[in-house]
Amino acid sequence: AKPVVAIVGRPNVGKSTIFNRIIGDRLAIVEDKPGVTRDRIYGSGEWGGKPFNIIDTGGIEIDGVDEILRSIRMQAELAIEEADVIVFMCDAKSGVVQADEEVAQILYRSGKPVIVAVNKVDNLNRMDDIYEFYSFGFGDPIAISGSHGTGIGDLLDAVIENL
Ligand code: GDP
Ligand code: MG
Repeated sequence: AKPVVAIVGRPNVGKSTIFNRIIGDRLAIVEDKPGVTRDRIYGSGEWGGKPFNIIDTGGIEIDGVDEILRSIRMQAELAIEEADVIVFMCDAKSGVVQADEEVAQILYRSGKPVIVAVNKVDNLNRMDDIYEFYSFGFGDPIAISGSHGTGIGDLLDAVIENL
């Protein structure tokens, strides 16, 4: 089977935007499993001659802070089970927030390779915005912009290095 990459992170950081840029039109049809799969979307990608499957998590809209935190945790835990490499997506415009710390706590325990992708670096003069994301300790954060498509090659380089 192809290795699996999971994109996790709190809502609104741009996971689905990046997922769509990576898969193009290679959306996978996944047979319905009971329970949680309905809020996960599967696609396939390829980079440097390496094919992989990729999961976009957290597609269902949820209300209320408690529900959001519960859902973020559940999504991160599921992704850890299924994934060979995890892309932990954050938002340069907001900086590190509490919900990111929650996700990081779960990812620490995973023992799986984690790549921090800092999205919404729309202006390359704002690269300073990514420094605070070193604080998670997952290594060099990668600046990307879903709006402009920049940095996605660097992100995929890091992903396939860990497949
Ligand atoms: P998700 O909830 O993590 O899947 O995030 P989405 O992909 O749905 O994006 C959330 C919002 O952020 C949308 O309004 C996107 O248009 C916006 N967005 C995504 N990528 C970027 C980016 O690189 N720069 C900016 N400024 N906005 C972005
Ligand atoms: Mg989404």
